[in-house]
Amino acid sequence: MSAKSVAYASRFVILPALFVVFVAAKILMKGHAVDRWLPHWDTLMIIGTVMILERLYAYKYSVSQKGFLARDITSTFVNVFVTGVVTGFVVLPILVFFTQHYFGRRFVFVSSEQLGPLWVQVAAILLLVSLFRYWMHRLQHRNEFLWKLHSYHHRVTDLRALNDFTSNPIDFALRNVLVYVLLGIVGFSPLAMLFAVPALGVWGIFSHCGGDVRGGWLNYLFVTPEVHRWHHTAAVPEGYGYSVNYGVEFSFWDVIFGTYYLPQKDGQTMQARIGHPGGLPDESNYLRLLLVPLGLYGIVPWLRRLLRIPRSPEGPQAAE
Ligand SMILES: [Zn+2]
Ligand SMILES: [Zn+2]
Repeated sequence: MSAKSVAYASRFVILPALFVVFVAAKILMKGHAVDRWLPHWDTLMIIGTVMILERLYAYKYSVSQKGFLARDITSTFVNVFVTGVVTGFVVLPILVFFTQHYFGRRFVFVSSEQLGPLWVQVAAILLLVSLFRYWMHRLQHRNEFLWKLHSYHHRVTDLRALNDFTSNPIDFALRNVLVYVLLGIVGFSPLAMLFAVPALGVWGIFSHCGGDVRGGWLNYLFVTPEVHRWHHTAAVPEGYGYSVNYGVEFSFWDVIFGTYYLPQKDGQTMQARIGHPGGLPDESNYLRLLLVPLGLYGIVPWLRRLLRIPRSPEGPQAAE
């Protein structure tokens, strides 16, 4: 086998191989001191590794994201370190109140044994979380207010590890955090959660890999970069409504519900032009991404005047 064909084949195996490594590392390192010193070390490590892959497997259609670096870093920091904590803090007491009120206890099931053997619970968590995310994501494209929040994730003009977390925190929490808070009151075994949750967390960043990595037949099972690029297409294919490929980690939900789309030509996946389906340009100002959908951006000029902060050099931007 020539070096060239090994390099080509590695495009297909690199993500599955890293997936196994990262999930195993997360499971084995649970409770290790590093978990306390640097929470979410695994997420930061996956982002760093995928950024290296983006260099190693350069994609010929890539579009520079340099002007959005500050926004992407800010959004990643907020959604990795803050959004989950705030969502749990707000939603958990309400859920615990309802389970106590209706079931007379903290968990829906008294003991995790009632939910079956470990492997059944792991499979149930994987299926429930991914199904919830699929439908929540679909709703986020359909509902006007939810789309206002979610559309900022769709303004990016290329997929990168760093813009996977570029999302309004409410949009992010609805799709990625809420489901875990809900699972927390079901009463799954902590061991089942330990095996299933890392597997669900790793793939989201992989799907945003900006490198020329391929999925092959895995495209039908997992949301690979090839599959997710079509979710970000600026021109939604006719007959597909708001978008295609809504799955967050598993694309088989799209196959089952008729939203899977991955056109091929000469045995290769066709290239999607990435961008906002309504033609809006990308937004580099994180505060606008955060506040405009909630109608709160008006407080920014007021705060600037109050704190005597000069305007940014690019001047005012068009109001939405
Ligand atoms: Zn979307
Ligand atoms: Zn995306």
